Amino acid sequence: MAEVEFTDAFTSAAGADLASALFEKAYGQAPTGVWSAPGRVNIIGEHTDYNAGLCLPIALPHRTFIAVSPRKDTKARVVSAMNPDDVVEVDLADLKAGGVEGWAAYPLGVAWALREKKLPVSGFDAAFASCVPLGGGLSSSAAMTCSTALALDEVFGLGYGQMDAGRVTLVEAAIRSENEMAGAATGGMDQSASLRCQEGYALLLDCRPELTALENVSQKPFDLTAHNLELVVIDTQAPHQLNDGQYAERRRTCEEAAEILGVANLRVTADSIARSDDPFQALKETLDALPSETMKKRVRHVVTEIQRVRDFVAAFAQDDIARAGRLMNASHDSLAADYEVTVPELDVAVAVARENGAYGARMTGGGFGGSIIALVDKGRSHEVAQKVADEFERRGFNAPRALAAFPAASASRDR
Ligand code: ADP
Ligand code: MG
Repeated sequence: MAEVEFTDAFTSAAGADLASALFEKAYGQAPTGVWSAPGRVNIIGEHTDYNAGLCLPIALPHRTFIAVSPRKDTKARVVSAMNPDDVVEVDLADLKAGGVEGWAAYPLGVAWALREKKLPVSGFDAAFASCVPLGGGLSSSAAMTCSTALALDEVFGLGYGQMDAGRVTLVEAAIRSENEMAGAATGGMDQSASLRCQEGYALLLDCRPELTALENVSQKPFDLTAHNLELVVIDTQAPHQLNDGQYAERRRTCEEAAEILGVANLRVTADSIARSDDPFQALKETLDALPSETMKKRVRHVVTEIQRVRDFVAAFAQDDIARAGRLMNASHDSLAADYEVTVPELDVAVAVARENGAYGARMTGGGFGGSIIALVDKGRSHEVAQKVADEFERRGFNAPRALAAFPAASASRDR
């Protein structure tokens, strides 16, 4: 059986060197500076962000680095180490939503979104180097948009990047870029994680739109080492699925359910169920009011998942790792049975991790492929990932890849 490969994170110096070297090769001079932003992994709370719910991401040690220099004109050029000979160039002055094809939409859309806000962003040259796996559910897209947002904030002196509350403006620009330039639906968790997480903490993000930047996050200690734990991410490498239609459909079903229930969003429903004297009965009555079996299942996932986030935070704070793990398992099972966003690779990886002693294992990210996480005893990540790889080989699945996750820092300047 083949040995499972782990993707290592770049150090700050190595990432900055790679991005700078690409910048010099593409543009013939040294960049003004280098910034980076992390990918993220969500511990629990899936498909809750667009329902105004709760989620609990951490920033990964894996980051996307951007070397940048501002320009005097409105020309913007971007290049990525993944395709180092292809420099994409636009004029920001006549850039419109949806006006860039392919990967370059992500960074160029950030400049566009900041300019749409009438902020003084002009042209720039940028080069990217990343160790965040692409399309693995670990948000390489947010790592790219958020590193760009922070870099542009500083080179154009916008002043939003220095403080957490200000970063919300950068989060918004990153979300708009994904939604309106890249045409990728995103609920907002990824960008908040990449710009607002703190080292050693998980970010409890409350996605109710009425909350201010000071109210919508709280930092929850998530010290794996102190608990003798490790969090291993296993990227299933499941063949890419056409999941955009599925994601949009799930969102639409949730919106329709909220309308039928007469609430602004399913968070309102989840909260009133949580506050009732008999939550089981209240959930049942809510589901009885919905017209289809599918809608009942989707709503049951969202409502129970929001509660699982609260319960997980409480369990971890009480050092009750067994309970925290069971909540992760319940989250996966709900995503599989009720939200129906898993694929065989995700279900098999989770099952193998559990059989091999994980406290909890679940898919993470939107589903239809991507990654799982498993909470395991310190020193066991490699063994558990290997067991998953062996089972994948037996079943003829693609070879998975793994990485070691811990709560790392949010976007910052590297050089
Ligand atoms: P995820 O965010 O889970 O990794 P997405 O599909 O949201 O998956 O985003 C992946 C896309 O982001 C890629 O297809 C590519 O267009 C773009 N992207 C991310 N990082 C890079 C990079 N370093 N270089 C070029 N494109 C990138
Ligand atoms: Mg993404």
